Amino acid sequence: MSHHSSGCADARSAACPCSRCDLLLGLDGVHVEAVERLDGLLVVTVSSPAAPAGCPSCGVLAVGRGRRRRVLHDVPGATRVRLIWRQRVWRCDDPDCMRRTFVEQVPTLVAARGSITMRAVTWAIGQLRREHATIAGLARQLGTSWKTVWRAVEPELVKLAADESRFENVTTLGVDEHIWHHVDSRKRGPKELTGMVDLTRDEHGRTRARLLDLVPGRSGKAYAAWLDERGDAFRNNVKVAALDPFAGYKTAIDDKLEDAVAVLDAFHVVKLGTAAVDEVRRRVQQDTLGHRGRKGDPLYGIQTILRAGAENLTEKQRTRLAAAIEADPAHDEVFVAWQCAQQLRSAYHQKDLAEGRRIAEKVVDTFHTCPIPEIARLGRTLRRWRAAFLAYFTTGRSSNGGTEAVNGIIELHRRLARGYRNRDNYRLRMLLAAGGLTP
Ligand SMILES: [Zn+2]
Repeated sequence: MSHHSSGCADARSAACPCSRCDLLLGLDGVHVEAVERLDGLLVVTVSSPAAPAGCPSCGVLAVGRGRRRRVLHDVPGATRVRLIWRQRVWRCDDPDCMRRTFVEQVPTLVAARGSITMRAVTWAIGQLRREHATIAGLARQLGTSWKTVWRAVEPELVKLAADESRFENVTTLGVDEHIWHHVDSRKRGPKELTGMVDLTRDEHGRTRARLLDLVPGRSGKAYAAWLDERGDAFRNNVKVAALDPFAGYKTAIDDKLEDAVAVLDAFHVVKLGTAAVDEVRRRVQQDTLGHRGRKGDPLYGIQTILRAGAENLTEKQRTRLAAAIEADPAHDEVFVAWQCAQQLRSAYHQKDLAEGRRIAEKVVDTFHTCPIPEIARLGRTLRRWRAAFLAYFTTGRSSNGGTEAVNGIIELHRRLARGYRNRDNYRLRMLLAAGGLTP
């Protein structure tokens, strides 16, 4: 790449008076002295304009002691970019001052000990947030190490996470159990976290679920402590509190969110139904064949069909389901359980909320009498949670889809990063990916 086409001073020996390079590079606080290509890299030499500097210790006017070359990683384009920053070095001449020399700082360019430019840090955070990037991938693009990228990004994420303004305007709040690792808890601490999700609808009635926080432990205490930290204004603002059927969270809501309606999250209720069908299938399988499901067993091949919504099944899947049920009269139990789960699911899928509520009431009034023990147990759970279960239909589908969406993003990012060892890093990354940190 040629540097200047015309009307420009020699860029190598002196600061270029042409503002075009500065515009092209768009760096704050420094100007471009030279641009060249070296070994497939774009190398840009920059420096700050000359200006007097005071000693940071005593304030006495300092004496220039020349320059130091700092190599910085910048936002990559078609090739990687290196900035050579000719950083000014100063000396304090005050005989009473402890400080001998100091180097200039340009915070808009780079953090004091950083090697990645501020705008590259901003770029990296954007990539992590919107493009499902990984730290390893960003390190490759910048031509540096995982550690260097994370060291530059982490303090910015900490700052964003500490900004309480991100909790403003939350009127529908979800809470959810969250398993963050599957290794020995003696190695990595408790597996469970409690996750808080903003399920508030925007002016168009759409939920843009945001993961607000992840705190250690699965307990009402963990949730209550988090609610306390948010303060009165936040707690008074919450009108709907969605949750999975876990008594600890309900206690926290009753204690701390007195004005809020507790609502069972649709996603979790449907999951309870699916889990019950799965249990029936496994039990019947064991009873009829005396072993766990194997390839070729009629009930084994229909696991995923049983988990799907009936309306989404293809003709082929329906035929397979029917064949599996007909293979043995004992399989009728599986079919009945499946129908129950479908009925439960259909309450949430009604266009008309009143019709949905009618189905939900029927479910809660009948399931506990079902001769299939797994369905009866589901029925008893729903009866215990009757008010919160039915509240979904009187709060305008308050929790629909949001929790599921956030869980999906978390799963994706966990896979992308191939696991996390540090809970604080995990929290920051998940908050960023799931919309909780808005730069
Ligand atoms: Zn000094």
